Amino acid sequence: MTGQRRMAMVWGSRVIGRELDDMNASIGYHPAEGQLVYIQTGLKHVSFSLLAALLLAGCEQSSVHHEWIGPKMLSVVTEDDQVSATIKTHVLHTPHYEIYTTIDDRPDLIARTAQLMEGGFDAYRTLAPNVQPTNYPMKCFLFANNVQWRDFTRQHTGPDSDIYLKITRGGYTIHDWYVAYYIGDITTYSVAAHEGWHQFVNRHFKGRLPPFLEEGLACMFENVEWNNDLPRWNLSMNPARTLSLRRAMDAGELFTLDQLVTLHAGMVVNQSNIRIEAFYAQCWAFARFMWEGENGKYRPALQKLFQDTADGSVADPTGSLRNSYHSWNPAGVKPMLEHYLGQDLTETSKEFTDFEKKIAYQEMSSQFEL
Ligand SMILES: [Zn+2]
Repeated sequence: MTGQRRMAMVWGSRVIGRELDDMNASIGYHPAEGQLVYIQTGLKHVSFSLLAALLLAGCEQSSVHHEWIGPKMLSVVTEDDQVSATIKTHVLHTPHYEIYTTIDDRPDLIARTAQLMEGGFDAYRTLAPNVQPTNYPMKCFLFANNVQWRDFTRQHTGPDSDIYLKITRGGYTIHDWYVAYYIGDITTYSVAAHEGWHQFVNRHFKGRLPPFLEEGLACMFENVEWNNDLPRWNLSMNPARTLSLRRAMDAGELFTLDQLVTLHAGMVVNQSNIRIEAFYAQCWAFARFMWEGENGKYRPALQKLFQDTADGSVADPTGSLRNSYHSWNPAGVKPMLEHYLGQDLTETSKEFTDFEKKIAYQEMSSQFEL
């Protein structure tokens, strides 16, 4: 399994994050993808009463940052087609990606996907500006349907194919490939932007980000808006994760930060749905906390952490985060975070708890742009 170190996939109604390396294997799950679809496609209409009820709880409101990022102009895309006896594959070339797709009846969708990946690349680099990009393209495979995707997966995932083939909706990241199939416009874009972060990290980082942090950062890109055909991200906005955080908080099901930093998705997979939702929502909240919490105090630390992880020199006393092909030792995360944040995790935990409350209660209306 050399090289198969990180994967994330959509399985049934759930997005699944999976991690493998050449030493061990584990599986993890994202919160309900079906719910994400529901929220993203219909919340303003269908779930308005729920949202209104939350807002009527009556608390001081606070807005998320209104900074939207994205490319100013369309990326250059060239296309050539590969035609076999049975199938036509469009191959789109952008500066950083090579996108293979069998979607043949939606030129608008495949054109947007190319812009999404290329715009996403710049957005990922907003987080990690000092990481040097490679000079050869990352491959993306976007199939028109599940049957084609299954064929490809059988041919390319070897002994692991049984695991992949259990996926009934969506895609995964393996090596630095993103492999998916069409599951509706909004979710296809959302999953692509999420997986694109994993793909970016797999390609460019020698070391391994703590799994909870890598997942949280990927969630920061899920909410894709469009300005004509240009993708837009607001790294503070994710209405679906906000609702999850609120639900978990109200149910008293949040993880403590001490717990959260040692987790990967596979460790919560067998827990209740509310705990699974809590895990991803808190990962997302913590990624945001490091990016913008305490007025951006920790952003330089996060960027130093990215740089050191990319270099393979991250300050992890267990050494396991310095090489992504090593087994991961969760015990290294707490001291590593304390080193970069310059304070005890207990102190960070207090600030993070306040930040979570701010998201779940004060930001709710602005997350939905109400
Ligand atoms: Zn993920």
